[in-house]
Amino acid sequence: MTDKRDERNSGIDTTRPSIARAYDVVLNGKDNFEVDRAFVAEIVKVVPEIYDVATYNREILGRGVRFLAEQGVTQFIDLGSGLPTVENTHQVAQGANPESRVVYVDNDPMVLAHGRALLAANDRTAVVPSDLRDPAAILADPAVKRLIDLDRPVGVMLVGVLHHLHDDDDPRGIVEAYMAAVPSGSYLFITHFCASTQESRDAEEKYLALLGTGRFRTPEEITAFFDGFELLEPGLVPLPLWRPEGPVPSKLTVGQQLMYGGIAYKH
Ligand code: SAM
Repeated sequence: MTDKRDERNSGIDTTRPSIARAYDVVLNGKDNFEVDRAFVAEIVKVVPEIYDVATYNREILGRGVRFLAEQGVTQFIDLGSGLPTVENTHQVAQGANPESRVVYVDNDPMVLAHGRALLAANDRTAVVPSDLRDPAAILADPAVKRLIDLDRPVGVMLVGVLHHLHDDDDPRGIVEAYMAAVPSGSYLFITHFCASTQESRDAEEKYLALLGTGRFRTPEEITAFFDGFELLEPGLVPLPLWRPEGPVPSKLTVGQQLMYGGIAYKH
């Protein structure tokens, strides 16, 4: 994307990196600016495999949504959904069951412009342009009310986003608020940057300094988000180890350990 494009009235700030656009860089997308690419170049210095990490995250997103669809889940709230890319949640879910309904929530103006265009033809999918840190507002949104029946199981997805919430944002309280609103039979799907290696700690420093967010929590801190729910096999694990569909490496690289993920069930 050319940086000269007129983004002045769109709310898009091209002077600072954005989480969504930086993620687009590592997914080899085109919806990013020089400032986002410069940020990623800094991260590459401490985690050269950061592009692979994004791929692992998209892969577990696909495996996780397929798993939930196999459990009979047909409603998904995808919080911090990101820019449309390949195998988006609604494509995976509706591939398994065409009746599946997906509400995407994101607060990046670029996501909203692209998401709306992608979803224009699909009346079982919507994009809510809001901050996920306000669960009451999200749950009261007309798109959520139209598409999600809170009397039936919901897949609540916080994939690659909780680490962009500071501890002061009360991420546990936010997760609890969403999970309190959905009935028994629902699922919680999380992937998260993990303080697993020295490189991950170095990456955290760069994220916080240059992007303003990026909290690499310990496995114990991430597991605590699932408190009160049944963490399903294989538990909270490095992304490539979560229900792999192919062979897994016997020794994980730094990049393969940079994010952990898991899915829990609400009884
Ligand atoms: N979930 C997708 C995935 O895993 O492929 C995208 C992950 S991307 C790294 C994180 C997304 O969360 C970005 O699109 C960003 O705009 C969004 N995000 C970050 N903080 C948010 C907030 N407080 N409210 C809504 N969206 C947020």
